[in-house]
Amino acid sequence: MTVHPIRRASAPADSALTLGIVDEGEDCPGVAPHPAIPLVGRHEFRWITESLGPGRVVEHTCGCAMTSYELISHAGVYQICRRTLPRAGVPALSWTAERWRRSDAYEWWHRLLSGRAR
Ligand SMILES: [Zn+2]
Repeated sequence: MTVHPIRRASAPADSALTLGIVDEGEDCPGVAPHPAIPLVGRHEFRWITESLGPGRVVEHTCGCAMTSYELISHAGVYQICRRTLPRAGVPALSWTAERWRRSDAYEWWHRLLSGRAR
C-alpha cells in the first residue's frame, strides 16, 4: 500500500480525494490517481460502445490497473471512457451513456475516483 498524492486542482471540494490509498503494481508510474474500491450503493454508469467521436482527454486514472478511465471532452460535452482487459460481457473500450457539461462531468469524475460511481 502506497499513498499517492492526487493533484488538488482536480479535486477541489472533496477532501477524501486529496490522498489516494493505492494498491500499486511494479509497473505503476505513480502520476495519476487510482479509483477507489467501488462502494456499496454506488451509482452504476450505463456503459456503451459508442463515443461522441474524437475528443480531448482532460483527466485520466493510472494505466497500471486492469481497468482505467478517462474523462473526455468533446467540444465541451463530456463522457467518461473505460478501458479494460476484455472479459465476458465487458468490452475493452466503452463510454458512459451519460453526457455532461463541464461542472457536472467533474462531479461524476470525482464520484468515480472516490468509488461512489462506477
Ligand atoms: Zn498505478
